[in-house]
Parts: sequence; structure tokens; C-alpha cells
Amino acid sequence: MRVPRPDEKNIGRKDFFKEGPLSLLRAFMVAAREEPPKRTPRREDLPLLRPPGAAPESEFLSLCEGGGACADVCPANAILLISRKDEPGRDAPMLEPSVAACVLCDDLACMKACPSGALKPLEREMIRIGIAKIDLEECFAWSGLDEFCDYCVERCPIGEAAIRMETREDKRGPVMGESCVGCGVCEFHCPDYPAAIRVFELSAEK
Ligand code: SF4
Ligand code: SF4
Repeated sequence: MRVPRPDEKNIGRKDFFKEGPLSLLRAFMVAAREEPPKRTPRREDLPLLRPPGAAPESEFLSLCEGGGACADVCPANAILLISRKDEPGRDAPMLEPSVAACVLCDDLACMKACPSGALKPLEREMIRIGIAKIDLEECFAWSGLDEFCDYCVERCPIGEAAIRMETREDKRGPVMGESCVGCGVCEFHCPDYPAAIRVFELSAEK
């Protein structure tokens, strides 16, 4: 199967999450802002998120052959092949949750497909692709723009252990728990643009 490049339109990927209605909601909510939204981050500024089970970055880069076996089997088309900074012209797999999120598929197919050990099979609860962080000022719920917005919490495949709604004084919004796996489903579904919840590398955790 040919792996889609990130700059190509991929209707299947969008359809996976019924992107059409979400796009309309996103456009409506962003238009409702009094201030223009922040600029979309440039690709080179995006967090470096590898597929689930990835070895530590230096080991990952030494092991990954760049053939895209992981991307070929991903049912969510969540794995993009991006040119490596250390070896331009050679690709390595990366996740960009605003484009498509890992859905923690039943087979955890990418890990099993990797021929080189760059992705190592892991139990689902041990996966740590990255960690989601909420921008409280941008979040529709916390900022009061839409007090009922809870897409991130509703769609999280892990549930309350990763993210839950909480009321503080007169406001209600999402708060992170301990068990976020960094799949990016929350980032994908956030109606803000750019998303008010985004997944970062674990090394960015404070
Ligand atoms: S676990 Fe499944 S959905 Fe997630 S990136 Fe791997 S193949 Fe794709
Ligand atoms: S909080 Fe977001 S990134 Fe973390 S597990 Fe839930 S959906 Fe995935």
C-alpha cells in the first residue's frame, strides 16, 4: 500500500473521524472568537511524536529502516513518513495528531509490523507516545467561550484516568490525569484551531 504523504489530501483519514461536521464546528467556533486565532505551527516546530512502542529517539533512528511497514498497516492512516533531519532523503514515521490521531487499534498493528525493532511491542497501558497539555486560555470550556465543550474528554480512549472534566469555582473544563498515552485523539477532536489541547514529547513534560 502506498503511504500518503502529509501534504496530500487524504479523505479516508478524515472520514475515519467523520471530519466533515467537525470542520464545520471548528470553523464556526473559531469565527466566534473576537481575536484572530494563533497561527498554525510550522511542521518543523511540531513535537516529534513517534508511533507507539518507539525506542528512545537515538536508538529509534539507528534502528528504523524507513520502509513504512508501520504506516502501511495503520487503520487510522495516522502514521506519516517524514524526511529525517539527520539524513535528508530518508524517511521516518511520525504522528501529527491534528491531521490524524493514533486510535490505539485493537491489534496495535504498527508495533507488530515493524521489521527492525524500532517499534517494540508494548502492552496498551504502557504506551507513551507523548503527553497532552491543555492551554487553559485557549480552551473553549475554561475560557467560557463554550462551557459545554468536552470533546477531548468524551473522545479519549483511555477515559477518566487520562482526562476528565472538573469544576473550579464558577468554571468547568478538562484536567489531565496520570494515564495519558499521547494518542492525540483529544487534539484531533478539539474544535479550536490550532487545538487547545496538544500532545508534546515526553521530554517536554515539566
Ligand atoms: S496503534 Fe494502531 S492506530 Fe495507533 S499508530 Fe499504531 S497502527 Fe495506527
Ligand atoms: S488525554 Fe488525549 S492524548 Fe491523552 S490518552 Fe486521552 S485522548 Fe489520548
